[in-house]
Amino acid sequence: MTVVKDTGARARIPPFTDEHDDLREQVNRWVDEEIAPNVGEWEEAREFPRELYRRAGELGFLGLKYPAELGGQGGDAIHDAVWAEELAYAGASGGVGAGLGAQSAIATPPVFNFGTPDQHERFLRPAIAGEKIGALGITEPGAGSDVAGIRTFARPVDGGYVVNGSKTFITNGVRADFLVCAVRTSEEGGHGGLSFLILEREMPGYEVVSKLEKMGWHSSDTGELSFTDVEVPAENLLGEEDRGFYLIMANFAWERLSMSLGAVGGMRRLVETAVDYASEREAFGRPIGRFQAIRHKVAAMATTMESCRALTYHALRLHAQGENPIREVTMAKLATQRSLLEVADECLQIHGGYGYMREYGVERAVRDARLGPIGGGSDEIMKEILGKQLGL
Ligand SMILES: Cc1cc2nc3c(=O)[nH]c(=O)nc-3n(C[C@H](O)[C@H](O)[C@H](O)COP(=O)(O)OP(=O)(O)OC[C@H]3O[C@@H](n4cnc5c(N)ncnc54)[C@H](O)[C@@H]3O)c2cc1C
Repeated sequence: MTVVKDTGARARIPPFTDEHDDLREQVNRWVDEEIAPNVGEWEEAREFPRELYRRAGELGFLGLKYPAELGGQGGDAIHDAVWAEELAYAGASGGVGAGLGAQSAIATPPVFNFGTPDQHERFLRPAIAGEKIGALGITEPGAGSDVAGIRTFARPVDGGYVVNGSKTFITNGVRADFLVCAVRTSEEGGHGGLSFLILEREMPGYEVVSKLEKMGWHSSDTGELSFTDVEVPAENLLGEEDRGFYLIMANFAWERLSMSLGAVGGMRRLVETAVDYASEREAFGRPIGRFQAIRHKVAAMATTMESCRALTYHALRLHAQGENPIREVTMAKLATQRSLLEVADECLQIHGGYGYMREYGVERAVRDARLGPIGGGSDEIMKEILGKQLGL
């Protein structure tokens, strides 16, 4: 009788190999040397240098999962997962993570998955190289969670479309060279009649209305955009007309997984920071980590991180196997984002007054973490999805 060994049960989960460990190290080294020392200045300036996209492209980080023929690294989702987790762990800041992540995790995947060879050449290849900046435009002033409420209209004309409308809260929106933009292409309401067009910054009528001021993610740009009679050629239609809702859903899976991985990376770092501080800082004649109240806080933080990591890696493994694990991805997004905020807040508490000071970076972690339960589908929407999955 042949004994089938259940290697899956004991394999590193997901299938991380030495190659992925090397990648972890590379990302950490890059952030340590070229990002972390400058983050404070970039946060003050309210943006990181445009050059950083090019540098990330040069190092291969913006095209880890894309084929070499398109300038990518020929890797897969697991490589991209390592990038998302380590960028956060290494302390790149929420803003830098959001700006680079918007490029690699939300703006380019639909171009790769649904784009024509011509669109791959015009948008994906330069985005992988960091020469062009991409953004994803779904949210509008009157339509966030409810994408069926999208009003930006693309009127079909000879040879293409004429677009009128607006988008808001768009990460990379101020600097983006191209916008992967959800529009309505038919009067049909609801989820039907949605399509995607790639809008280019230099198109007449495409305007960046403002760079929004926000609570955290200071070094990333978040834009409000408006479109007035923007003529978009038919070759910029991404995917099939009126099938845009499908594209939105396909994109959400990776966006949510990638946010979960970022939160896991962030929590790993916060637990380490808390342990270090609790070991060094003394009060009443002993390191504060020797007080049970503080020790228990750290124990709970580490447990939260580990359970979030297990849930996220579980979802990642299923995703990497080609399944569409909506339930697991939704749970991971729901659990990790609120947990990151709580872990960051506990870390701040352990730092006492110093935690409240900019110098330590912990207050920034708290502010940056606040976006997680809102962006990429809010906690309430995650619970709605899960409720439906559970048959309610
Ligand atoms: C910094 C930042 C960056 C962003 N980047 C991008 C980007 O790059 N591209 C992009 O397209 N969007 C982006 N967004 C938008 C983000 O995805 C939306 O803010 C989010 O989807 C929520 O939409 P909303 O803000 O309109 O809130 P709303 O949808 O108006 O929701 C308001 C409140 O009502 C709750 N709610 C809504 N519907 C329900 C329901 N059915 N049941 C229970 N509660 C409900 C929500 O959970 C929330 O608490 C970004 C947002 C921010 C703040």
